[in-house]
Amino acid sequence: MTFIPRFLDNSHFGQSLGKIVCVGRNYAEHAKELNNPVPTEPILFIKPATAAVRLEDTIIAPAIRGEVHYETELALLIGEPLSNATPEQAEGAVVGLGLALDLTLRDVQAKLKGKGHPWEIAKGFDGACPLSSFVKVRDVPNWDSLSFSLSINEELRQIGKASDMLFSVPQLLVEMSRHFTLEPGDVILTGTPAGVGILPRGATLHFSLDGAFEFTTQVAS
Ligand code: ZN
Repeated sequence: MTFIPRFLDNSHFGQSLGKIVCVGRNYAEHAKELNNPVPTEPILFIKPATAAVRLEDTIIAPAIRGEVHYETELALLIGEPLSNATPEQAEGAVVGLGLALDLTLRDVQAKLKGKGHPWEIAKGFDGACPLSSFVKVRDVPNWDSLSFSLSINEELRQIGKASDMLFSVPQLLVEMSRHFTLEPGDVILTGTPAGVGILPRGATLHFSLDGAFEFTTQVAS
C-alpha cells in the first residue's frame, strides 16, 4: 500500500514516500551500549517504502523471528532533490520533522553481522518503520537543537537531543547525497540515542518531540 507522508494539520505531502535512508550509531552512548566503536563516517542503510506504517496506529511486531528492538529516531521529510549537496542546500531541503521507530530484528541482525553479511532483512521488513505525522519545519524554530523522548508504560526509556548527534543533520544529508540522490518524499532517520531494548507486547508507548507534539501508541499483544 502506498504511504503518503502527512503533516500534523492532516494535510498530505504532495508525493508518496520514497526510500527511507537511515544512519547507524549516530549517538556515542548508543554505540557504546551495543559494544560498537564510534564511527568516523556515517554508517548508512536503506529501508524500503514498504516498511512504513503509521506510528499513531497500533504497532504489530513480527512474532517468530526472535527479539524485536525499538529505536526511537528523529525523522526528516525531504522536499527538494539533493545530489552532492552543500550543507546549506541540505538544510533547506528539509520540510518536515517527525519521529520514527527503526524496528530491528536484533537476533536476525546479530546472526547476519556475525557472518559478515548485509543485515537488510533485519531492518527492512513490512512494518519495520512506524512513522509519525510531520510538523512543518517552518513551525519549529531552532530545530537543530530539538529533543525527543520515548516512555514505555510510563517509564522513560530514551531521550535524544539533536545536539548530541555525532553527525549533524546537514552533515548527514551531505554525506547521504554523495551516495544516493535524495528525492522529495524520501525520509531520513537520524539514528537512535541510548536506551534501545525489546519492544514489549501489549505496551503503551508515549512519544514526545519537544514542544511540537506528543502522542500515545499501543503495541499489539
Ligand atoms: Zn536505528
